[in-house]
Amino acid sequence: MASDATIQSLRAMLEEERESLRAQLAELGYGAKGLDYDPNFADSSQVTAERGENEALVQKLVTGLQDVEHALEKLGTDRYGLCERCNQPIAPARLEARPEARLCIDCAAASARR
Ligand SMILES: [Zn+2]
Repeated sequence: MASDATIQSLRAMLEEERESLRAQLAELGYGAKGLDYDPNFADSSQVTAERGENEALVQKLVTGLQDVEHALEKLGTDRYGLCERCNQPIAPARLEARPEARLCIDCAAASARR
């Protein structure tokens, strides 16, 4: 299991990432209730295109935020650092680059191919 110092630095990274994701979501107008658009503008094609782009981005940010919060919950437990699919340890270099990673690199590659 990772040392306390490693866990602390991972936690700091995850918390920073969480703040950054939350700030980006707030900037896009995403609050607790989800995206809040004025329906009167919904039929303008430009707005629709922008909304499509925003929704894709918001979806990506929300997924990232969920991963970060999930990792923060697991951090310090036996489950942290283990792949959620095959239960093998995730390579430390991968965790340093992506502390919120749920899957080892092999499983992540397999699920990206699906
Ligand atoms: Zn795996």
